[in-house]
Amino acid sequence: MDGFVNVAVRIRPTFKNNFCSTIKLISENPWTLQIDERSQYTVDRIFTEDTGQLEIYNVIVRPLIEKVRLGYNSTVFAYGQTGTGKTYTMGSNPEAYETDEPGFILCSISNFIENLSDNTEIYISFFEIYNEKIYDLLSTNKKMLPIKGIQDLMKEKLIDLAQAKSILRRGSANRHVGETKQNSKSSRSHAILTIHFSSCYQDTNISAKLNLVDLAGSESVKKTGNQGYQFQEGVNINKGLLSIGRVVNALATNVSFIPYRESKITTILQDSLNRNNYVTLIACISPNPDDIRETIQTMEFTQETK
Ligand code: ADP
Ligand code: MG
Repeated sequence: MDGFVNVAVRIRPTFKNNFCSTIKLISENPWTLQIDERSQYTVDRIFTEDTGQLEIYNVIVRPLIEKVRLGYNSTVFAYGQTGTGKTYTMGSNPEAYETDEPGFILCSISNFIENLSDNTEIYISFFEIYNEKIYDLLSTNKKMLPIKGIQDLMKEKLIDLAQAKSILRRGSANRHVGETKQNSKSSRSHAILTIHFSSCYQDTNISAKLNLVDLAGSESVKKTGNQGYQFQEGVNINKGLLSIGRVVNALATNVSFIPYRESKITTILQDSLNRNNYVTLIACISPNPDDIRETIQTMEFTQETK
């Protein structure tokens, strides 16, 4: 996990379900996973279902926080089918701030807050991209902004953990506004929490950010047999996810043209997605044999990004 682009996989627990997973960890060096008899995949790191939140944060996010302090923008994408633990891993659901297994967002913010000094500041912004529009999750009425209005997003200065939690609760609660069981917008949208860090020591100013991105469910790619609005929604999600794969692949393979303009999410994150920065993808997968097609699609995606 020490390149500019890293790819990890996390397997969700089976809970109490009555099935036997075919997924097996084959080796740790290199990290190789067998999905079924015909498919094996090697990535930079694999977390099995018994790995806890803190351990994953320590491996995936902590090294990136150190890069941010040095002035490098860093981004973590959680990718995968709905229900595989993307939101749990990121900790972008309101419950995450009340548990002792809070996920990447609160762990990262705690780290920055613990290390605040007279010379450092942190701000957060939190927004959703839904159907190619931006919704500011920190504004009271979930204000919609055009993509060009990205600089008008609210930024909240963080002072201590209690205040940070109350801001995060407000943002996460906004994710669910207008949602029904049939139309779970939070799984159809990308949620991006950004920690903006700046420091000033003597004559040296550093500013950089950490983007923690809970992506829309990747299964929408195939559930676009619908028409009209839902069809367009699916097309947009598909386009966004594919273009993240292409951009990350372009970064990892050293080609000269990086296709940022193919989607809104890559356009918005362009200043964090280049070869001076760090990008980690955590692909979340289900242990359930019924989900095997989606799991293979997700594993194929991990291979295309490198
Ligand atoms: P996604 O965001 O990918 O749709 P969620 O994060 O909402 O998936 O996870 C689906 C359900 O599984 C949630 O109830 C979540 O709390 C639970 N869950 C996911 N991963 C884990 C885990 N590693 N340990 C315990 N519960 C988990
Ligand atoms: Mg989710």
